[in-house]
Amino acid sequence: MDTPTFAQLKKAFVDSGYEIRLLPRRQLEGMALDAPAEVKRHLDTNIMGLIMPDDNAIGIANELTVDERATTLLHELIHLWDEEMDEEDVESITLDMEETLNPNQFGFLQFLVS
Ligand SMILES: [Zn+2]
Repeated sequence: MDTPTFAQLKKAFVDSGYEIRLLPRRQLEGMALDAPAEVKRHLDTNIMGLIMPDDNAIGIANELTVDERATTLLHELIHLWDEEMDEEDVESITLDMEETLNPNQFGFLQFLVS
């Protein structure tokens, strides 16, 4: 599997035109139940974030800390970059990238979800 660069994720986000919405987790879970099958197959057991194509938005659980929201956004941006990638690969790349992002890059993610 390919690992995106931070610049590629940033570009995928900017190109998508999606906005970020901080929403209660219960609301995200409700939206996930209504999601089409191709979205559902990406769902985690604990929903922290969700791409909402109909709303041009990425939903992030507002109960999380800023750092957790930044990591969740990173996860969702990897989904955006490669919509075919399965959940396990997305999560493994998320963890790898989290360790290699420089403070400015992580700061950019924090800024988007604060
Ligand atoms: Zn996911």
